[in-house]
Amino acid sequence: MDAQQTDRFRKQLLEQRASVASEMEAHRITGDPVEDRERRDPEEQAVNATASLVETRITEDDENLLKKIDLALERLDAGTYQQCANCGKKIPLARLRAKPSASLCLNCQEDKDAGRLGP
Ligand SMILES: [Zn+2]
Repeated sequence: MDAQQTDRFRKQLLEQRASVASEMEAHRITGDPVEDRERRDPEEQAVNATASLVETRITEDDENLLKKIDLALERLDAGTYQQCANCGKKIPLARLRAKPSASLCLNCQEDKDAGRLGP
């Protein structure tokens, strides 16, 4: 991967990061605040869990994606961006273009999706 490609992926990741972050921000304003939910005791949380399950899911998904993007940016800086985090093989550029936050090659991702790989 040359410097130009690295720059392009970095830009793509930063744009995606900004859009996820602003979505989370919008969610925080309109939805049930995440901070409050975490402060509740477990029993009360269980009662409230069903009502806010959908919202929590969205926030968690966003947070996971944000983590993945940050990780991808770190990998980009470290020069290991194109390397599969599991098997070490090169991740095809086409896959990274379609999903810039991907850290696994297609084979390993399929294994992970099927539950054959650890988190
Ligand atoms: Zn792999």
